[in-house]
Amino acid sequence: MGMKCLAYILKDFNKPLVPEKIEIPELRQNEMLVKIKAAGVCGSDVHMWKGQDPRLKLPMILGHEGVGEIVEINGDLKTVEGESLSIGDAILWNRGISCGHCYYCAVLNEPSLCTDRKVYGINISRNEFPYLNGCYAEYIILREGTDIFKISKEADPAVLVAASCSGATTAHGFDMIRPDTSDIVLVQGPGPIGLFSVAFAKASGAKEIIVIGGSETRLNMCKEFGATVILNRSKLSIEERKNIIMKLTGNRGVDFAIEAVGYPEALREGLDLIRPAGTYVSIGFGQPMGTIEFDGYTDLVHKNIKIQGVWVSATRHTHQALNLILGNLNTFEKMITHRFKLNEVNEALRVMENKEAVKAVLIP
Ligand SMILES: [Zn+2]
Ligand SMILES: [Zn+2]
Repeated sequence: MGMKCLAYILKDFNKPLVPEKIEIPELRQNEMLVKIKAAGVCGSDVHMWKGQDPRLKLPMILGHEGVGEIVEINGDLKTVEGESLSIGDAILWNRGISCGHCYYCAVLNEPSLCTDRKVYGINISRNEFPYLNGCYAEYIILREGTDIFKISKEADPAVLVAASCSGATTAHGFDMIRPDTSDIVLVQGPGPIGLFSVAFAKASGAKEIIVIGGSETRLNMCKEFGATVILNRSKLSIEERKNIIMKLTGNRGVDFAIEAVGYPEALREGLDLIRPAGTYVSIGFGQPMGTIEFDGYTDLVHKNIKIQGVWVSATRHTHQALNLILGNLNTFEKMITHRFKLNEVNEALRVMENKEAVKAVLIP
């Protein structure tokens, strides 16, 4: 058909993404051509751009969070709810496709650990057919096996888009283990995963939600999401933060903590702030970022604590995150602090890198 699509490509790490016009190929059976209405700029996109994510296959069209409108469809495709899909429908999709048949998918029912998980904008190269494999573009081709949610055409696509990554991954953590209603919860990191953690902790009925972070803008946003105590680590030393938290918790430490930072120092601090028999959920490490000193006696066994790691998410979690946003639209609207055109993608990465933005979204 000869139609072309503008896409921004990561060719070399740490270099600006470059525009390219890609010819849109014929759809294969059970594929959809989708016009991107909003593409979220995720914190991990910044890490990918810097070459810190081992999953990448250059050249890549980055962008794993998308909302769009179906413009072409080849096959009788349905949403996860069983509704038929047709041209003009507004949709959000699960960013990863798991095989359904490996040991993790089929035996353990852990599709996020699938050994053959394909993720738009992360591990499908621009050179792999059908080429439009990421969201930093005018169009994406969703391949067979993608799980689809139909969304309202009235909803702001920029507000819903975070459900597909930071929201879903946080939902995965809370799906595995969640705070009790009387718990004092600590959230480390006020970025998108931190904000979703605050919102999920609030929905779980946490008594207090303490957030540690370095960006005043992001910390204030956490308050609007339901945080009761914010601790700015650029103003308070690690000892001062510990003193405040010990005072708040009868000198025991927090009941439940969520690491949403991805830096090893945060993990070390979190281990020191959890009470004996408490729970620690680590979500922030989307890429290898170094190690910490860990004492099996002091940090783990003698404290009798639970530590839960969270790797990406499955369709169930995208559904949970989408519903959390839909139930709190006015709050989540505030999270989208920056909107850019597609050709401003490099600027969007910059404001996410320096944490000027809480969440930036591209509107092609
Ligand atoms: Zn992401
Ligand atoms: Zn699998």
